[in-house]
Amino acid sequence: MQGLMQDIPLTLDRIIDHAARWHGGREIVSRDGQGQISRTTYAEVHARAKQVSNALKAEGIAPGDRVGTLGWNGYRHFEAWYGTIGIGAVLHTLNPRLFPEQIAYIANHAEDRILLADPACRPLVEQLLPQCATIEKVIYLDEDFDAWIAPHAAECAWGGFDERTAAGLCYTSGTTGNPKGVLYGHRSNYLHCLMTLQSDALALSARDTVLLVVPMYHANAWGVIYSAPMVGAKLVMPGQRMDGASIHELIETEGVTYSAAVPTVWQMLLTHLKETDGKLSTLQRVTIGGSAVPESLIRTFHDDYGVDVVQGWGMTETSPLATISQPDARIAELGFDEQVPYKLKQGRLLGGLDLKLCDDAGATLPHDGKTFGRLMIKGPTIAAAYFKGEGGQVLDDEGFFDTGDVSTIDPDGYMQITDRAKDVIKSGGEWISSIDVENVAVGHPAAELCAVIGVSHPKWDERPILLVQLKPGATCTKDDVLRFLEGKIARWWMPDDVLFVDEIPLGATGKIDKKLIRQRMTDYKLPFGDPVR
Ligand code: ADP
Repeated sequence: MQGLMQDIPLTLDRIIDHAARWHGGREIVSRDGQGQISRTTYAEVHARAKQVSNALKAEGIAPGDRVGTLGWNGYRHFEAWYGTIGIGAVLHTLNPRLFPEQIAYIANHAEDRILLADPACRPLVEQLLPQCATIEKVIYLDEDFDAWIAPHAAECAWGGFDERTAAGLCYTSGTTGNPKGVLYGHRSNYLHCLMTLQSDALALSARDTVLLVVPMYHANAWGVIYSAPMVGAKLVMPGQRMDGASIHELIETEGVTYSAAVPTVWQMLLTHLKETDGKLSTLQRVTIGGSAVPESLIRTFHDDYGVDVVQGWGMTETSPLATISQPDARIAELGFDEQVPYKLKQGRLLGGLDLKLCDDAGATLPHDGKTFGRLMIKGPTIAAAYFKGEGGQVLDDEGFFDTGDVSTIDPDGYMQITDRAKDVIKSGGEWISSIDVENVAVGHPAAELCAVIGVSHPKWDERPILLVQLKPGATCTKDDVLRFLEGKIARWWMPDDVLFVDEIPLGATGKIDKKLIRQRMTDYKLPFGDPVR
């Protein structure tokens, strides 16, 4: 119809163009594997990203070709990112923490042509190359990268293609079967960026200094790779070192106001702060997601450091952020203690998406906060299929994607994950939420990490057992832990055994690796006795 608004394709190159033009002097601070700090700006990374585009073209990279990256968060990775997607090529982030065989499988499946790798990954790359026939060239993200782009001009036409062009590729970790690729589009990531910037979501602003702890290979660093430049936030990239001391130092020296990461990273930071009597003088708020956030984490951040924790939920297939535990008008009026139960939930849906709960037969379930079922999601930032059609049809008749999570939705619209469908413990025909038990148990002062898995039981099908990794130097007994749980969880949810382990294994994205725990526990036998206390 005549008089309609301008029709400008939502391509992601516009985001970095905008950052360079309107927030050009805003800093990007990176720390490399040696601890060396580098400082650059949005204007400089924009110019170098253009050089990357020309370098890629000189290598014969065409629109649609996949360019792999294998590295930590740093400015060269950022330049490679925008330089690749600006010319319509697809940026494929590989996770260096995966097993080499998995990385090789993924690089081959994606048919990556060029690999841009962190220098610390050199031994890994040398191991991979003989298995990856499509990779024509490897460039290391150090002086090698600088020399590669140096001969090229900082002028290059970007965009000019359909907003439905593919921009990024990220494989899910493949907890069942082989990893599958999730293919992001320019439009889908652009929309995700706008959706997450609202004040009821990540609420980033030009006044923020963002510590990008969540890796760029983990679903576009939860979209912050786009949202930070969109608003001109200062970016701090921590490289490979994610231990409490390193993270704390960056927060304090760079004046970080906001950060996002999985709970285990924050657990390490808080342990470090306790040991060193450290302070958080500038940090205001953190988004925590990827796995459920324990109550003790929310309370310690609030009570001891004045930091607001907001929980987010999402998955690689959902771009990733889809729900967030920000308060609605009624809950915002409540005191902190009354808000905590809502902060423990995964939260309310972002605008533009749709959510439903289904039983195994596909019937829709009520939002009463009690009935749990399969969580299904739909929207322009949700996967329609996997790359190359792996896994076949993934949507139901109404176009909803099955998340593989089991959850409830309360009458206020707060969704709460009960468990991943494959982690849920079935005892005597009823479900026990391993997440709930873990989150209470990790509140024990001696516990660093806790994991609950189901083990088979002749009478009850499955019973929960609790694994505890103690804080350094802490001691505790099985009875201590059980007493601590008493009254905080249903009696029949009480673990049948508590095992103290040296290490609870973490997977490639820093989440507790239950698949590995189950493998390690295959020979485990439950202690004798009736489990229901
Ligand atoms: P993977 O963990 O397999 O690498 P993702 O990072 O995509 O893949 O993980 C998505 C899953 O992580 C979700 O389906 C859900 O089970 C879990 N998850 C994400 N955020 C939360 C949260 N806030 N609370 C509980 N579980 C979460």
